[in-house]
Amino acid sequence: MQRPPIDLRSDTATRPTPAMRRAMAEAEVGDDVLGEDPTVKLLEARTAELLGKEAAVFVPSGTMANQIAVGVNTQPGDELLCSATAHVYVWEAGGIARLSGVTTRTFEGDHGLLALEDLRDAIRPDDPHYARTRLVCLENTHNRGGGRVHPLASIAAIGRWAREHNLAMHLDGARLCNAVVATGHPAREWARHFDTVSICFSKGLGAPVGSALAGSAEAIRRARRLRKLFGGGMRQAGIIAAGALYALEHHVARLEEDHRHARILADAFESTGGFAIESGSVETNLVWVAVDRSLGTAAEVAAYLRSRGILVSVLGPQLLRACTHLDVTRQQVEFAAEVIRQVEPAMISAMTLVY
Ligand SMILES: *Cc1c(COP(=O)(O)O)cnc(C)c1O
Repeated sequence: MQRPPIDLRSDTATRPTPAMRRAMAEAEVGDDVLGEDPTVKLLEARTAELLGKEAAVFVPSGTMANQIAVGVNTQPGDELLCSATAHVYVWEAGGIARLSGVTTRTFEGDHGLLALEDLRDAIRPDDPHYARTRLVCLENTHNRGGGRVHPLASIAAIGRWAREHNLAMHLDGARLCNAVVATGHPAREWARHFDTVSICFSKGLGAPVGSALAGSAEAIRRARRLRKLFGGGMRQAGIIAAGALYALEHHVARLEEDHRHARILADAFESTGGFAIESGSVETNLVWVAVDRSLGTAAEVAAYLRSRGILVSVLGPQLLRACTHLDVTRQQVEFAAEVIRQVEPAMISAMTLVY
């Protein structure tokens, strides 16, 4: 019998566990657009507490949480500063411009991690020629930066500077819990440097659906209006909020296991000719791998791995990503590492002949 594929494409691949499904099935629900879903309210209160903010709002996706945050923190015609590889800029369908009418200025940083030095001279003069520089968006962990943690000291320095210059700060914390587990700094210690913070329950935390945006009571009041505008007002959403609540209670500490697994995969890639860890080091659950042309293209390597029952993402002509999560066991990771260690150019070119 063929074994099920080992899905390392994304930490969104997780399915709700039987216990999570039970919690979802038994959730108390009401109409959340009317503010009557007790499970959603509980999740929002827990999220606000986790992040040390006055309030939070539950939304269908991380994309919606980020795009609402852009709208909450800006006026049309304003300018936002972020990394050239920020999710909010690259992977959200141009929503910054389309939904909020905001322009974006990007910075390379260190594999996408920005430092104060990158931003210090970026604020445009108060002059009618210019867009008003208004918002800084950071991402922790930084997906395209190899899932690396944005150093807390660097975030604090940017936050102080932003406050001095009356800029708002938003944190795309889709994987903030990974940064928390990797560093031991509680979520609220990161969040205090930001006006708004988004987190995803549907990534490594393993819930099937949902994200949240946290901030001041006033910011979240405005966020609720944008959530409705963007079509994210959901009715008996307690069913999915229960999965997110379960994830917050049971799946945070175990992220450490995903990080260990990612290091096993990273070691395998690093010790195999033709592969290099793209971001320098692997700190959390993402492994971005540069594929040398002598081995083949990323698509060819992915096709070979697929033939061995291992799924990875192709994210550039010579770029792969492998991602560990709740649904990948130690045994599967060790098997994948073994297959990776055996990869040779001849195997890849043999695959190319088949396709
Ligand atoms: C996945 C992700 C998002 C968006 O989440 P969706 O729920 O897929 O819309 C935002 N930011 C980062 C860094 C992500 O990895």
